[in-house]
Amino acid sequence: MNHFENNFIRKKDKTHLWAKIKIPIHQIYYAFVYIWGNREAMYQNSDTDFDRDFDAICLNNGYKYDIDTYVVSSPNLLSEIHLVLGVFGSGVVAHEFQHALLNWWNLHTFANHPVPGVVNIAINKSEDELFCEVTGKVISKFWKDYYARRESDYQ
Ligand SMILES: [Zn+2]
Repeated sequence: MNHFENNFIRKKDKTHLWAKIKIPIHQIYYAFVYIWGNREAMYQNSDTDFDRDFDAICLNNGYKYDIDTYVVSSPNLLSEIHLVLGVFGSGVVAHEFQHALLNWWNLHTFANHPVPGVVNIAINKSEDELFCEVTGKVISKFWKDYYARRESDYQ
């Protein structure tokens, strides 16, 4: 699941926060991964715009593009990924990081190849969902097969 948001919920209620992990992405840019103890805590501290039926979410910060100077500006914190302890596996993690990395890659590409007259390239992201679903399935399949083989090795 993916959402572009210019303002994260800044003030988190950390009562049910199990871990907060800073993941460097590239140069000055990074993401935070929040792992919550239960779903309610995740919903409460992530994106209130959504129906509360998601297992995990990536919130991408917006970035600005100056059409006169072609300069792209973005906060160093590009994304927040929210997970719930016991609810995610390798596929979910890959899916959510794919959202974050697509966001970073768009920013990076745009910053290095400015397009005159294009005001905002980051608005329509609905097509990202399929890409991230496929990433999640592929990575999850790999780890399932890998661990199945390792298990049979030890029998
Ligand atoms: Zn998604």
